[in-house]
Amino acid sequence: MNGKTVMACIDAAHASLKEHADEIASLDQAIGDGDHIINLLRGMDALVAMRVAIEAEAFAPALRLAATKVLSTVGGSSGPLFFSMLTGMAKASSDDAGVRAFAQAFAAGVEAVGQRGKTGAGSKTMMDVLIPVAGHFTAIADAGASKQDVLEALPRVAEENMLATRDMLATKGRASFLGERSRGHIDPGARSSQLMIAAVCARLAQG
Ligand code: ADP
Ligand code: MG
Repeated sequence: MNGKTVMACIDAAHASLKEHADEIASLDQAIGDGDHIINLLRGMDALVAMRVAIEAEAFAPALRLAATKVLSTVGGSSGPLFFSMLTGMAKASSDDAGVRAFAQAFAAGVEAVGQRGKTGAGSKTMMDVLIPVAGHFTAIADAGASKQDVLEALPRVAEENMLATRDMLATKGRASFLGERSRGHIDPGARSSQLMIAAVCARLAQG
């Protein structure tokens, strides 16, 4: 993994978010203020504009560079949360390119999001996708899963848990202002995180 891989993952996530932009906008209009996809695409456009700089870096500095740009462009609640994800991963990453090392880095990124957003699973946020994905990733990596096993399994876990946010009561973020009326809608941050995870896994599976 290096800056080129990071940029390829950004491109894959960007394409998937663009493809699902109307859907994510509708989800955030239903239980938020409608800006989630606008925030994300603004960040993605800024990352694409710094392609050459990101591609020139090694893995951890590429993540840190992207994180800084995300913080200054995404805004909303999600900007600082994605910043924490990327810097948390960068901090925990090592020269070990194995599946277990990557699982640990991902889990550290998710942990950093939890600290920043002061929430865990069950609040109807992106954490309801990130926590189970990190948990499953660590568990199967510890059990000796191959890269291909991981890239097949994680999108499934992400999708199941994204769908499960539909029936949850929101207790964090803007959606919590709606109380019981937040039920019946998938959380936009859970959907965008799930889409990005699926897109990145599909891209990495290509080698
Ligand atoms: P804002 O809510 O400020 O308009 P966005 O629209 O960019 O920000 O992002 C909304 C998404 O952020 C939500 O759908 C939810 O998944 C996520 N979110 C909000 N607050 C938190 C939090 N404290 N921890 C984790 N995720 C959160
Ligand atoms: Mg919003």
